[in-house]
Amino acid sequence: MKILAISDQVMEQLYSPRVKEAFAHVNLVVGCGDLPFYYLEYVVSMLNVPFVHVPGNHDLPPVRKEAEEASGGELLWNCGSIDGRMVIEQGLLMAGLGGSVRYRPDGTHQYTQAEMAGRILAMTPRLLWNRIHYGRALDILITHAPPKGIHDGADPAHVGFEAFNHFIARFHPRYLLHGHSHVYRRDTVVTTQVGRTTVLNVCPYRVVEISPDHA
Ligand SMILES: [Zn+2]
Repeated sequence: MKILAISDQVMEQLYSPRVKEAFAHVNLVVGCGDLPFYYLEYVVSMLNVPFVHVPGNHDLPPVRKEAEEASGGELLWNCGSIDGRMVIEQGLLMAGLGGSVRYRPDGTHQYTQAEMAGRILAMTPRLLWNRIHYGRALDILITHAPPKGIHDGADPAHVGFEAFNHFIARFHPRYLLHGHSHVYRRDTVVTTQVGRTTVLNVCPYRVVEISPDHA
């Protein structure tokens, strides 16, 4: 199956009727945060496929509320959010952990390193249950921020989460899809293999082809 993962920047290629043809074979849209509601809604409704997403650190509640009201209700934002949750989408076990590392005391969707570790701890019983019932804890972890030291930045807002490195080492998801780290240069590393996990920076968009083989 093919996943179209998007984050952080509105792209003309996707915010156009051409998206229908260009991404006709996509089975699922994944939002990795920091995108305006109108853009998410446009892409998802044009492709007419399921949608899951996590919030980024710039997805402030007032903006979301306004967008939801403008769209006539809860609609997309609440339906598709898998922040702090696990879902099974098209046979794939997926979990979401949105937000970035805390760099402002009053920031929304910001977590200290310890808080993010706590969010994973809350998810752990379900991951262990998956391992028993499905033979694997998780297929895809959807995040906004990257793991520490992988595609992350040195400035306080762009440091990655150590808890994600521990998550990878313990639960071995096949993929970790993240945004938050804008790509300014062509030679920027956007794919890193960590053990059995492929870490992908999807900024600003990326098509990921995933085999149904869970082995
Ligand atoms: Zn961000």
